[in-house]
Amino acid sequence: MQQPIRINRRNPVVLEADWADGFTSAILLSDLREACPCAHCTGEEILGQTVFAGIKTFAPGMNELDALTPVGNYAVQARWKDGHDTGIYTWQMLRDLFERKKLSADTLLRIDAQMASMN
Ligand SMILES: [Zn+2]
Repeated sequence: MQQPIRINRRNPVVLEADWADGFTSAILLSDLREACPCAHCTGEEILGQTVFAGIKTFAPGMNELDALTPVGNYAVQARWKDGHDTGIYTWQMLRDLFERKKLSADTLLRIDAQMASMN
């Protein structure tokens, strides 16, 4: 899977991305955080011990994206404002997520309007 040709934070709660095959989509940052693939968030086993995710409780800044940093040529690492930065999203994961969680045009317009009224 190719990496997106463009990733852009449309506003504080929406991330949008375009791919070379013409697919374009925007998702909520909270959905990106929700899908965090790191062991802590998924409760995967580490060294034989199941790690339970405490992440479902809301922490300030947890859905605010601080940075997306490329990892090699296969993924991006997300850093969130609550300090969580262990989630590495492969291009395939990102594409799947943007396909599954794509916001409708109506919803996007509503979010844009809401953001504008907050300024
Ligand atoms: Zn995580």
